[in-house]
Amino acid sequence: MSRKNRPYHFYDTTGSICSTCYRQIEAKILFKDGKVYMDKWCPQHGTERVLISDDEEYYRLGREVFVKRPEMPQTFNTRMHYGCPYDCGLCPDHMQHSCLSIIEINEACNLNCPVCFAASGTHKHTHHSLENIIAMLDTVVKNEGEPDVVQLSGGEPTLHPQFFEILAAARARPIKHLMINTNGIRIAQEPEFVAKLAEFGRHGLEIYLQFDSMRPEVLKTLRGADLSRIRRQALENLNQHNLSTTLVVTVARGHNDDELGDIIRFAQSQPCVRGVTLQPIQQAGRQTGVAADNRLTVSEIRRNIIQQSGIFDAADIVPVPCNPDTLAMAYALKVGDTLTPLTRYFEPQTLVEGSANTIVFEHDVDLKQQVFKLFSTNHSPESQASCLSELMCCLPQIAAPNLSYENVFRILIVQFMDATNLDIRALKKSCIHFATADGRMIPFESHNLFYRPEQAALLQGLREKIEQTHTVWAQV
Ligand code: SF4
Ligand code: SF4
Repeated sequence: MSRKNRPYHFYDTTGSICSTCYRQIEAKILFKDGKVYMDKWCPQHGTERVLISDDEEYYRLGREVFVKRPEMPQTFNTRMHYGCPYDCGLCPDHMQHSCLSIIEINEACNLNCPVCFAASGTHKHTHHSLENIIAMLDTVVKNEGEPDVVQLSGGEPTLHPQFFEILAAARARPIKHLMINTNGIRIAQEPEFVAKLAEFGRHGLEIYLQFDSMRPEVLKTLRGADLSRIRRQALENLNQHNLSTTLVVTVARGHNDDELGDIIRFAQSQPCVRGVTLQPIQQAGRQTGVAADNRLTVSEIRRNIIQQSGIFDAADIVPVPCNPDTLAMAYALKVGDTLTPLTRYFEPQTLVEGSANTIVFEHDVDLKQQVFKLFSTNHSPESQASCLSELMCCLPQIAAPNLSYENVFRILIVQFMDATNLDIRALKKSCIHFATADGRMIPFESHNLFYRPEQAALLQGLREKIEQTHTVWAQV
């Protein structure tokens, strides 16, 4: 009798949660027909198969090549008791420091986006107190020493009545790069507000501008309104002050995944824009008008960029080594409105074996030489400013003559996992964390799944069940 083979390659096991009851369960990673799936089994709710990458080769790059030792925060904030993901955080079992720390300064917003992971909107009016916000900032500093990137978020952060006091408090701390996550309405409508922002300094300050589509109908679906005019006006005002801006695109299958190339080319034409961040939709918070299966994988977005942009190819968009499952990046040199992709010139080892998870060019001679070489063949020295300053998140932080931050253009794909595709192994490497006023730093994914006030009862119930198991084991 001949034995039968399973119709897939069994690659690994990991942990996940049941998307119905949110209990921690085991999961298998499988390769089938060039795609990667997670198979989950919950004793109560049965099996689930989830596509986590449609490109086995790319997925393996993140698992086998773009991997480096985890960098630790200066301190941990919680102890291990219930197990991951119920001990956030950061508990001592977390495998990455906070590359990007998010401070939610309010819940109030002037939009009611059908897609909003914070479930904010005009029905919410809370602005967190300055005291609490300072406590959050201090948590980040305590964990990170000199935090790489802190992002003020909300709700709509620009609506906070003490917005500039908050900005000043952040500036008074050793934060290298400060970002403001905004829908751009105030920036579009109040030129004097933008001028005041610019007074805070153009360097080390970045506007993280919601920019999902160039098409009114898509904006209506994702944001509940045609914001085309607002977006254009916001960019005009930001260009006027040359305030560094990243366009942030929430990508939903069948809605805007066909216009990633158009958005990148538009970004290229905007002097103040330093890059585009693409975030596949996460099933969290509020999600109406967009089907539940609209989640795209990192590899699909990567392929769309390659096929649509006419600028980046496969060698340009690589996994980010500190969290390769959920982050991918490409660098390009931007001179005028011309983009020259850079990442294809870096050996993977250069990125993986950098001096730290935020690489400093001065410390990495090879990388520096390669960038200089590339740079000198393309641009005159006069056109170059004095240094290529900080980049965000896990990306190289560069101080080198002749390069300016204004000459750097970054594509970043950021996948925030949800209850369906959560891979706990990848979650432990998450480097985007929310700060809380009670002194915790909580990974983005687990924060939206378990740690918002709306999920308190769910988390409590899960913890109680785990506690009962602990008690049973203690009696054995
Ligand atoms: S996600 Fe990280 S911080 Fe949260 S419980 Fe797991 S290991 Fe700990
Ligand atoms: S996604 Fe942003 S702009 Fe839209 S409702 Fe939520 S907080 Fe407001």
